Amino acid sequence: MEQRIIHACGHEQAHDLTGFDSQQARKARWLKTTTCRDCFVAEKRAEEAAAAALSSAAISHLDLPLLTGTDRQISWASTIRTKRLAALTNLNSNADCYACLQVTDAKWWIDHRDLTDVDLMAAATQAADIQSATAARASITDMSRTA
Ligand SMILES: [Zn+2]
Repeated sequence: MEQRIIHACGHEQAHDLTGFDSQQARKARWLKTTTCRDCFVAEKRAEEAAAAALSSAAISHLDLPLLTGTDRQISWASTIRTKRLAALTNLNSNADCYACLQVTDAKWWIDHRDLTDVDLMAAATQAADIQSATAARASITDMSRTA
């Protein structure tokens, strides 16, 4: 049964309540103590914006390289990188975070966004090793070409 509930924020919202009358009454009572959906979303957004601002401030002293990828990847990866680096550099030395600080591939940040801090640092170190190995191989090829 649809019921209009006045939420704690003062906004009215329709809810589809199911179950026995007593269950519906309990649910309605509980809903009255919560904020409406719009206010909930707005609060969440504000919290995220505040957290993002804190993260940006926390890493503002770092001289980060530009990310590479499509515009969409870069914009998403930049949010991820800011958040992860703020947490990483807060708990670890800059030397431990060095590999993470060097990763410029936007796709890498997106693909690895769910890793734990430890795994993220390990993955970054591995990526750096592969990159330098590839660079070394490329320079060997260059040398053999000029020889
Ligand atoms: Zn509201």
